[in-house]
Amino acid sequence: MFLVDLLFPKFCAGCGKVGTYLCNKCLWDIQQTDLVCPQCERLSVGGLTHPLCKRRYGLDGLWSLGIYQDPLRKIIQKLKYKFVKDVGETLISLTLKYWVKFTPQLLEELKKDQGEGWVVIPVPLHPKRQRFRGFNQSAQLGKLLAQKIGLDYQEVLKRIKYTKPQVGLKGKERRENLKNAFEIDPSPSLPDQDDKLCSKNYTQLVNCLLIDDVWTTGSTIKECCYVLKKAGAQKVWAITLAR
Ligand SMILES: [Zn+2]
Ligand SMILES: [Zn+2]
Repeated sequence: MFLVDLLFPKFCAGCGKVGTYLCNKCLWDIQQTDLVCPQCERLSVGGLTHPLCKRRYGLDGLWSLGIYQDPLRKIIQKLKYKFVKDVGETLISLTLKYWVKFTPQLLEELKKDQGEGWVVIPVPLHPKRQRFRGFNQSAQLGKLLAQKIGLDYQEVLKRIKYTKPQVGLKGKERRENLKNAFEIDPSPSLPDQDDKLCSKNYTQLVNCLLIDDVWTTGSTIKECCYVLKKAGAQKVWAITLAR
């Protein structure tokens, strides 16, 4: 054991076991979720929006890694307050592994376009909340995803309204709460210049992989999708760790 491990022991984000950030048992216990249409949430091959459920400014598909239950729930909650890159990377790798297995449609599209015109975009936090937390976990996940599949990463969306937490609000209240909460950032700061991820500008904003940690009712992601499509995005897929 290294001295650093004695001073700063690692704990599994799922079960608290010492010596690792994510133990194999927890990794195995993550249950892959069925893929559903983001509009009606009924089963759908590859998470594609059913043709009849398509809306002009709506999502084209939804891809989630696992069911929002322990250990995945615990892991996600921990990551919110302390983002451990190792854990993020493991989860993104797992996502891609399942992705290859269950969502050839989206992958085929990405391959067909050779990633050209596709960007990874995180669901933003309000600046106040981000200052409090120190980072946005969806952004961290988005950067890892973009790196792994070789796409551009852009922080295109800005949260301009400090919204109440969505928990406890009903469908209509959720939508009301989120109305005008997001806008396209006219002058994005390049987050990590050394990442070389932010090379393109918005005129090439065509197809988006919108990433967030959890899909609960989808109202936040749907609102972001609406803003992106209003700004000219063609296809928008939602990618979340849990649903
Ligand atoms: Zn564990
Ligand atoms: Zn549907």
